[in-house]
Formats: sequence, C-alpha cells, structure tokens
Amino acid sequence: MSQLKDVLSSSYYKEPVPHIEKDSPFASMMERFRFASEILDLDPGVFKYLSSPERVIIVAIPITMDDGRIEVFDGYRVIHNSILGPSKGGIRYAHDVSLDEVKALAAWMTWKCACVNVPFGGAKGGIRVNPKNLSQHELERLTRRYTANMLDVFGPDRDIPAPDMNTNEQTMAWIMDTYSMKNQRTEKAVVTGKPIILGGSKGRKEATGRGVITTTLAALSKLRISPSNATVVVQGFGNVGSVSAQLIYEQGAKVIAISDVTGGYYNAGGIDIPEAIHYSMTNGFSLEGFDGAEPIGNDELLELDCDVLIPAAKENQINIENAPKIKAKIIAEGANGPVTANADKILEENGIMVVPDILANAGGVTVSYFEWVQDRHGYFWTEERVNRRLNRMMRESFDNLFMVSEKYSITLRQAAYVYAIDRVATTLKLRGIYA
Ligand code: NAD
Repeated sequence: MSQLKDVLSSSYYKEPVPHIEKDSPFASMMERFRFASEILDLDPGVFKYLSSPERVIIVAIPITMDDGRIEVFDGYRVIHNSILGPSKGGIRYAHDVSLDEVKALAAWMTWKCACVNVPFGGAKGGIRVNPKNLSQHELERLTRRYTANMLDVFGPDRDIPAPDMNTNEQTMAWIMDTYSMKNQRTEKAVVTGKPIILGGSKGRKEATGRGVITTTLAALSKLRISPSNATVVVQGFGNVGSVSAQLIYEQGAKVIAISDVTGGYYNAGGIDIPEAIHYSMTNGFSLEGFDGAEPIGNDELLELDCDVLIPAAKENQINIENAPKIKAKIIAEGANGPVTANADKILEENGIMVVPDILANAGGVTVSYFEWVQDRHGYFWTEERVNRRLNRMMRESFDNLFMVSEKYSITLRQAAYVYAIDRVATTLKLRGIYA
C-alpha cells in the first residue's frame, strides 16, 4: 500500500494524465480508480498501465453537404482497454464532445463490463457535430465516412460500437452496412443496438432501464423497503428514465416526480407513468405541457424527500453544491457520472446508498453482449429469455458487489471499482505484457 501511495503522490504517477479538468468526467473516474487501487494495493505499474487508454484515434471527417459545400468534423474513438475481450462502447454525436469526455467514458466502459462480468473491454467514440443541423443524408454520409476511417479499428473481434447520445438504430445500421461492404460480407456482430430486423436483440431498448430497476429493487430489499411503499423521483425521461419509471411504477411504487430538458413535473399523489409516456411520445418526446403534475424546478426535484432518486439525464447533476440537500435513501445512477466524485463523501456521510452507474446502468451493455452472441450464433432469443438472463446477471452482480462492500466496509461504488479493477488487473497478470 505504501509503495502505491508514494507513486500516487509522485509526478511519475501523474505522467499519463498531464491535464485533468476539475470535476470533469475524467477527473471523477480517476479519483475513484485511485481509491480502489489503493484498497487493492495495486501494482504501481498496473495502475499506470490502466490509467492510459490503449489507443486514441482522432480523425477528420470530410463530407459533402447537401448544398455542395465540403465540411470537416472531428471524430474520436478511444479504446481504453481490451484485456477482457473486444472493446465495447457507444458513439455519441454532440457539438461539445471532447477527447477528455470520450476518454473517461471509455474507461467507464472497461470498469462497467468487468463489474457485471461481460467479456468485453472498454471504448467510446464521438463526433463533434450538432446533428440537428444536418439532414438525414448528411448524417448518413458523416456516419459512413467515420466508419471508413475506423475500418482498422472496428470489428466483431476487435471493437464493437453501439448507440449513445444522438445516435440510434439507424446509425448502427449504416455502420454495419459500411463495414460489411468494405469486407464483402454481412457482418452483423460489428455493432450492437441495431434494428431487430438486422440482427438486433429483443429487449435491448428497454435493457438499461430494466437493469436500473433490477438493482433498485435489490437495494430497496437491503433497506427493507417494499417497492409498493416506495416513493420515486426520476430525472430525465428519455430511453433510460422513462423505462425505469414505467418498471418501478409496475412494481406499485409511487413516482412523485419526473423531468426532462423542458423542466420538472411533480405530483405528491403519484404520476400516472403510462399516461406520461404516452404524452411524451405523442408530443415529440417532450413532457412540455404535461398536465398530470405541477411544474417543479430541476434543482428542487433532485432535493425532494423520496426513497429512490434515479438521475437518468446527464453527468454532474449531483455535486458538492446540492449533495448535502439530497434526501433520497437510494440513488440509482441511470445516467453515466450523474454524481461527481467530490459529492460521494457527502452522500456517504448522510447514509445514502448509491447504486453506481457502472452497475446500475450496465443492463444496456449486458444485452449488447447478448446481441453479439446471438449474431455470432445466427440464433435469436425470445424477449422473455433476454429479460430473464439480464435480470439474473444484474441481480447476481448487485449481490456480489454488496458482499465486496461489506468485506472491505466500503460503499457500493467503491466495491464496484474494486471488483472491476481487480478483475482486469488479474487478467492482465495472467496474460502478461506482450513484448
Ligand atoms: P435520451 O437522450 O433518450 O434521454 C435523455 C433525457 O434527459 C431526455 O428526456 C432529456 O430531455 C433529459 N434531459 C437532458 N438534460 C436534462 C436536464 N438538464 N434536466 C432534466 N432532464 C434532462 O438518453 P438516454 O439513452 O436515456 O441516456 C440517459 C443517460 O443514461 C446518459 O447519461 C447515457 O449516457 C446513460 N446511459 C444510457 C444507456 C442506454 O442504453 N440508453 C446505457 C447506459 C447509460
């Protein structure tokens, strides 16, 4: 342990990450990685090895716009680690995508896969673009050119993309087709999150929310709270938030507040979630104008008195400013990185159980793994089979991490990192360093 501490405080250790922005996703990831490494007494060399991504690819993506102009966009793919298997991770399109963010998300994917025993490494990709400014044809050309730039990176045995922010089944279909055309054979397993007709898995769309609720139910049972007596607040009403709200509603819980980018909606008597979902779907995926609840500010919403808070929107929502005011008994992290590292301690001191993102939202990558397995076998499972296996893996992972947290007297988040890092480090030790 002391040897590692020396390394942690030395400039030697900081070498691979020369500039970390305070509170950035990468800083939060590194802080948690450091803490878990200390508990594990991780070999300093292994720590250094896992601090740096294996591969960082930056590409310029030129495309011809509909009006004939040439535009050039920045594209990234970061392979954090592939010790456990082919790397896996989504691709996001956003005007503010940065390499720092993509690096953090890639590392999170390594820990997430290891945490739930999915045999994949971690990766992430992104294109710095506001997709709303592009036509469908321009988006298709952008996606195909990005894929062409990544032909030596992607592959069913190498690196397998999936949808993320502002990318979807259609984006995956274009990637799959471009890769297949270049390789002169249909290669379904090169991406996951595809349309079912192209080899996607049943249950994939709902998988992340389903995993959030499986782990939330496990956490509620540890606190001896019956789901039918529980009050729940959900921030974000997209794929993860709306499915989580629906599934906990079906368990008899009272969902007292929901929100999306248009604001918060509160009803102390409980919101009719199927009605809210119907409203959002028929209103351009927006809750604006929903009259089954009173308006409430997003900050106020996070601070409501409830049993379960599910942040399912974006990063850094619970931070050092509002963490002391959070009253939920359980926070189940549907989003990636919704709690900053410096808020962890405050939540811990206030006795709040946090089901960490790398466990709570791992249902998506778990069913992506099922999709990859089905594509490779050419044999497709029923939705019932997918859900049963997903629930089992999520429940086993929760129980496993709960045991680790008790063994070391640490939080579930710390336990998730300890377990995941140990798994990667042990595999690395067995494989050795190729030279
Ligand atoms: P989405 O785009 O479908 O939904 C995001 C929702 O958050 C929308 O309702 C949006 O209006 C809302 N939102 C945005 N900013 C907000 C704000 N400031 N306050 C309140 N609501 C706000 O995205 P998603 O797929 O549901 O993903 C949500 C989060 O879950 C992201 O962090 C994503 O990385 C993470 N995640 C998603 C998956 C998946 O399978 N979809 C898997 C793992 C993790």
